[in-house]
Amino acid sequence: MIHLKTDEEINIIREGARILGLAHGEVASHIRPGVKTSELDRIAEAYIRDHGAVPSFKNYNGSFPASLCISVNDVVVHGIPGNYELREGDVVSVDCGVYYKGYHTDSAYTYPLEGTDEKVLLLLNRTYESLMRGIAQAKAGNRVGDISYAIQSFVESFGYGVVRELVGHGVGKNLHEEPEIPNYGKRGKGVKLVPGMVFAIEPMINMGTRRVVQDRDGWTIRTADRRPSAHYEHMVAIRENETEVLTTHQYIEQRYAYKWRSKSQ
Ligand code: MG
Ligand code: MG
Repeated sequence: MIHLKTDEEINIIREGARILGLAHGEVASHIRPGVKTSELDRIAEAYIRDHGAVPSFKNYNGSFPASLCISVNDVVVHGIPGNYELREGDVVSVDCGVYYKGYHTDSAYTYPLEGTDEKVLLLLNRTYESLMRGIAQAKAGNRVGDISYAIQSFVESFGYGVVRELVGHGVGKNLHEEPEIPNYGKRGKGVKLVPGMVFAIEPMINMGTRRVVQDRDGWTIRTADRRPSAHYEHMVAIRENETEVLTTHQYIEQRYAYKWRSKSQ
Protein backbone atom coordinates (compact mmCIF):
# COMPACT_ATOMS: atom_id res chain seq x y z
CA MET A 1 0.00 0.00 0.00
CA ILE A 2 1.29 3.44 -0.94
CA HIS A 3 0.90 6.13 1.73
CA LEU A 4 0.25 9.48 0.05
CA LYS A 5 1.49 12.43 2.10
CA THR A 6 -0.41 15.60 2.94
CA ASP A 7 1.19 19.03 2.56
CA GLU A 8 1.68 19.11 6.35
CA GLU A 9 3.55 15.80 6.24
CA ILE A 10 5.70 16.99 3.34
CA ASN A 11 6.52 20.15 5.32
CA ILE A 12 7.85 18.01 8.19
CA ILE A 13 9.81 15.80 5.80
CA ARG A 14 11.35 18.93 4.24
CA GLU A 15 12.51 20.07 7.69
CA GLY A 16 14.01 16.66 8.37
CA ALA A 17 15.69 16.69 4.97
CA ARG A 18 17.36 20.01 5.84
CA ILE A 19 18.87 18.49 8.98
CA LEU A 20 19.96 15.52 6.88
CA GLY A 21 21.57 17.81 4.29
CA LEU A 22 23.45 19.73 6.98
CA ALA A 23 24.60 16.46 8.60
CA HIS A 24 25.93 15.37 5.20
CA GLY A 25 27.74 18.73 4.95
CA GLU A 26 29.32 18.23 8.36
CA VAL A 27 30.57 14.80 7.28
CA ALA A 28 31.79 16.23 3.94
CA SER A 29 34.03 18.73 5.74
CA HIS A 30 35.86 15.82 7.41
CA ILE A 31 36.36 13.53 4.41
CA ARG A 32 40.06 13.31 3.56
CA PRO A 33 42.82 10.69 3.43
CA GLY A 34 43.60 9.33 6.89
CA VAL A 35 40.17 9.76 8.46
CA LYS A 36 38.60 6.63 9.94
CA THR A 37 35.13 5.78 8.67
CA SER A 38 34.01 5.27 12.30
CA GLU A 39 34.99 8.90 12.98
CA LEU A 40 32.72 10.10 10.15
CA ASP A 41 29.92 8.04 11.66
CA ARG A 42 30.47 9.60 15.09
CA ILE A 43 30.34 13.10 13.58
CA ALA A 44 27.07 12.36 11.76
CA GLU A 45 25.37 10.85 14.78
CA ALA A 46 26.36 13.75 17.05
CA TYR A 47 25.14 16.31 14.50
CA ILE A 48 21.79 14.57 14.00
CA ARG A 49 21.10 14.15 17.74
CA ASP A 50 22.19 17.75 18.47
CA HIS A 51 19.55 18.94 16.01
CA GLY A 52 16.57 17.15 17.49
CA ALA A 53 16.56 14.15 15.19
CA VAL A 54 17.51 10.47 15.41
CA PRO A 55 19.69 8.51 12.95
CA SER A 56 17.32 6.37 10.86
CA PHE A 57 19.85 3.65 10.14
CA LYS A 58 21.07 2.94 13.68
CA ASN A 59 19.61 -0.40 14.80
CA TYR A 60 17.71 -0.72 11.51
CA ASN A 61 16.22 -4.22 11.44
CA GLY A 62 17.49 -4.52 14.99
CA SER A 63 21.07 -4.91 13.82
CA PHE A 64 22.67 -2.14 11.74
CA PRO A 65 25.30 -0.76 14.14
CA ALA A 66 25.85 2.77 12.78
CA SER A 67 24.25 6.05 11.66
CA LEU A 68 25.92 6.06 8.25
CA CYS A 69 26.44 3.44 5.61
CA ILE A 70 29.97 4.08 4.34
CA SER A 71 30.77 2.09 1.23
CA VAL A 72 34.32 2.32 -0.13
CA ASN A 73 35.44 1.37 -3.67
CA ASP A 74 33.97 -2.06 -4.54
CA VAL A 75 31.38 -1.80 -1.75
CA VAL A 76 28.12 -0.79 -3.40
CA VAL A 77 26.01 0.00 -0.33
CA HIS A 78 25.48 -0.88 3.36
CA GLY A 79 29.14 -0.70 4.34
CA ILE A 80 29.60 -0.58 8.12
CA PRO A 81 31.85 2.23 9.44
CA GLY A 82 34.92 0.94 11.28
CA ASN A 83 38.68 1.22 11.61
CA TYR A 84 39.37 1.63 7.90
CA GLU A 85 41.22 4.88 7.13
CA LEU A 86 40.36 6.55 3.83
CA ARG A 87 43.16 6.74 1.26
CA GLU A 88 43.96 8.80 -1.82
CA GLY A 89 42.15 7.37 -4.82
CA ASP A 90 39.27 5.88 -2.80
CA VAL A 91 35.67 6.49 -3.77
CA VAL A 92 33.41 6.67 -0.75
CA SER A 93 29.63 6.48 -0.70
CA VAL A 94 28.05 8.07 2.37
CA ASP A 95 24.39 7.19 2.88
CA CYS A 96 22.48 8.78 5.75
CA GLY A 97 18.93 9.00 7.05
CA VAL A 98 17.30 10.98 9.82
CA TYR A 99 14.07 10.42 11.71
CA TYR A 100 12.44 13.73 12.62
CA LYS A 101 8.95 14.39 14.05
CA GLY A 102 7.78 10.94 13.00
CA TYR A 103 9.16 10.86 9.46
CA HIS A 104 12.30 9.49 7.85
CA THR A 105 14.53 11.06 5.21
CA ASP A 106 17.27 9.36 3.18
CA SER A 107 20.02 10.55 0.84
CA ALA A 108 23.44 9.46 -0.38
CA TYR A 109 26.49 10.89 -2.14
CA THR A 110 29.65 9.27 -3.48
CA TYR A 111 32.90 11.21 -2.97
CA PRO A 112 36.10 10.70 -4.89
CA LEU A 113 39.21 11.37 -2.84
CA GLU A 114 42.05 13.15 -4.57
CA GLY A 115 43.94 10.81 -6.82
CA THR A 116 40.83 9.02 -8.05
CA ASP A 117 41.27 7.56 -11.51
CA GLU A 118 39.68 9.60 -14.33
CA LYS A 119 37.59 6.59 -15.41
CA VAL A 120 36.14 6.35 -11.91
CA LEU A 121 35.39 10.09 -11.86
CA LEU A 122 33.42 9.55 -15.06
CA LEU A 123 31.47 6.70 -13.40
CA LEU A 124 30.58 9.09 -10.57
CA ASN A 125 29.59 11.94 -12.91
CA ARG A 126 27.43 9.66 -15.02
CA THR A 127 25.77 8.03 -12.04
CA TYR A 128 24.93 11.51 -10.73
CA GLU A 129 23.60 12.45 -14.16
CA SER A 130 21.44 9.30 -14.18
CA LEU A 131 19.90 10.40 -10.88
CA MET A 132 19.07 13.78 -12.46
CA ARG A 133 17.53 12.04 -15.47
CA GLY A 134 15.48 9.84 -13.15
CA ILE A 135 14.27 12.87 -11.20
CA ALA A 136 13.26 14.58 -14.46
CA GLN A 137 10.89 11.65 -15.14
CA ALA A 138 9.42 11.71 -11.62
CA LYS A 139 6.27 13.69 -12.32
CA ALA A 140 2.56 13.21 -11.88
CA GLY A 141 1.08 11.12 -14.68
CA ASN A 142 4.31 9.28 -15.47
CA ARG A 143 5.01 5.76 -14.20
CA VAL A 144 7.80 4.28 -12.10
CA GLY A 145 9.14 2.60 -15.23
CA ASP A 146 9.79 6.00 -16.82
CA ILE A 147 12.23 6.79 -14.00
CA SER A 148 13.79 3.32 -14.16
CA TYR A 149 14.24 3.42 -17.92
CA ALA A 150 15.80 6.90 -17.86
CA ILE A 151 18.46 5.71 -15.41
CA GLN A 152 19.13 2.32 -16.99
CA SER A 153 19.28 3.45 -20.62
CA PHE A 154 21.71 6.25 -19.78
CA VAL A 155 24.23 4.29 -17.72
CA GLU A 156 24.11 1.12 -19.80
CA SER A 157 25.10 3.17 -22.85
CA PHE A 158 28.54 3.41 -21.18
CA GLY A 159 28.69 -0.32 -20.44
CA TYR A 160 28.08 0.05 -16.70
CA GLY A 161 26.16 -2.50 -14.63
CA VAL A 162 22.85 -1.59 -12.96
CA VAL A 163 22.43 -3.34 -9.61
CA ARG A 164 19.16 -5.30 -9.53
CA GLU A 165 19.00 -6.44 -5.92
CA LEU A 166 18.60 -2.97 -4.38
CA VAL A 167 16.16 -0.27 -5.40
CA GLY A 168 14.77 3.15 -4.51
CA HIS A 169 11.70 3.24 -2.30
CA GLY A 170 8.88 5.23 -0.79
CA VAL A 171 9.81 7.05 2.43
CA GLY A 172 7.63 8.30 5.26
CA LYS A 173 6.77 6.94 8.69
CA ASN A 174 8.88 3.99 7.62
CA LEU A 175 12.31 4.26 6.04
CA HIS A 176 11.33 1.82 3.31
CA GLU A 177 7.77 1.99 1.96
CA GLU A 178 6.07 1.22 -1.30
CA PRO A 179 6.51 1.80 -4.15
CA GLU A 180 9.85 0.29 -5.12
CA ILE A 181 11.79 2.46 -7.60
CA PRO A 182 14.10 0.09 -9.53
CA ASN A 183 17.01 1.51 -11.52
CA TYR A 184 16.06 -0.71 -14.45
CA GLY A 185 12.73 -1.06 -16.25
CA LYS A 186 10.48 -0.19 -19.14
CA ARG A 187 8.94 3.12 -20.13
CA GLY A 188 5.23 3.42 -19.39
CA LYS A 189 5.21 0.43 -17.00
CA GLY A 190 4.73 0.16 -13.26
CA VAL A 191 2.93 2.22 -10.66
CA LYS A 192 1.47 5.54 -11.81
CA LEU A 193 2.91 8.60 -10.08
CA VAL A 194 0.33 10.74 -8.30
CA PRO A 195 0.53 13.87 -6.11
CA GLY A 196 1.47 13.08 -2.50
CA MET A 197 3.95 10.34 -3.32
CA VAL A 198 7.30 10.77 -1.57
CA PHE A 199 10.12 8.46 -2.55
CA ALA A 200 13.87 8.03 -2.86
CA ILE A 201 15.56 7.57 -6.23
CA GLU A 202 18.98 6.00 -5.81
CA PRO A 203 20.96 4.63 -8.75
CA MET A 204 23.61 2.09 -7.69
CA ILE A 205 25.85 1.76 -10.73
CA ASN A 206 28.85 -0.54 -11.15
CA MET A 207 31.88 0.03 -13.34
CA GLY A 208 31.75 -3.61 -14.44
CA THR A 209 29.33 -6.44 -13.78
CA ARG A 210 25.96 -5.70 -12.25
CA ARG A 211 26.29 -8.76 -10.03
CA VAL A 212 26.86 -8.22 -6.32
CA VAL A 213 27.81 -10.38 -3.33
CA GLN A 214 27.20 -9.93 0.39
CA ASP A 215 29.85 -10.13 3.09
CA ARG A 216 29.46 -12.43 6.07
CA ASP A 217 28.58 -9.42 8.25
CA GLY A 218 25.11 -9.68 6.70
CA TRP A 219 25.17 -6.08 5.43
CA THR A 220 28.08 -5.11 3.19
CA ILE A 221 27.19 -5.45 -0.52
CA ARG A 222 30.16 -5.62 -2.96
CA THR A 223 30.53 -5.88 -6.69
CA ALA A 224 31.16 -9.49 -7.71
CA ASP A 225 34.15 -8.43 -9.86
CA ARG A 226 35.52 -6.09 -7.14
CA ARG A 227 35.48 -3.10 -9.48
CA PRO A 228 34.18 0.24 -8.13
CA SER A 229 30.57 1.31 -7.75
CA ALA A 230 28.78 4.64 -7.33
CA HIS A 231 25.60 5.63 -5.51
CA TYR A 232 23.67 8.91 -5.35
CA GLU A 233 20.27 9.35 -3.74
CA HIS A 234 17.66 12.08 -3.49
CA MET A 235 14.09 12.09 -2.18
CA VAL A 236 11.33 13.71 -4.20
CA ALA A 237 7.70 14.70 -3.55
CA ILE A 238 5.28 14.44 -6.45
CA ARG A 239 2.99 17.48 -6.68
CA GLU A 240 0.19 18.39 -9.05
CA ASN A 241 2.27 20.55 -11.39
CA GLU A 242 5.83 20.13 -10.17
CA THR A 243 8.18 17.76 -8.45
CA GLU A 244 10.04 18.93 -5.39
CA VAL A 245 13.47 17.53 -4.59
CA LEU A 246 13.28 17.34 -0.79
CA THR A 247 16.87 16.39 0.02
CA THR A 248 19.90 18.50 -0.79
CA HIS A 249 23.56 17.95 -1.66
CA GLN A 250 24.18 21.70 -1.40
CA TYR A 251 26.09 21.52 1.88
CA ILE A 252 28.19 18.64 0.60
CA GLU A 253 29.22 20.59 -2.47
CA GLN A 254 30.00 23.64 -0.32
CA ARG A 255 31.99 21.87 2.35
CA TYR A 256 33.86 19.08 0.56
CA ALA A 257 37.37 20.44 0.01
CA TYR A 258 38.12 18.53 -3.20
CA LYS A 259 36.11 20.32 -5.93
CA TRP A 260 36.03 17.35 -8.24
CA ARG A 261 32.71 18.00 -9.98
CA SER A 262 33.53 21.49 -11.13
CA LYS A 263 36.90 20.20 -12.29
CA SER A 264 35.71 17.26 -14.31
CA GLN A 265 32.63 18.75 -15.97
MG1 MG B 1 17.30 4.73 0.26
MG1 MG C 1 19.96 5.91 1.49
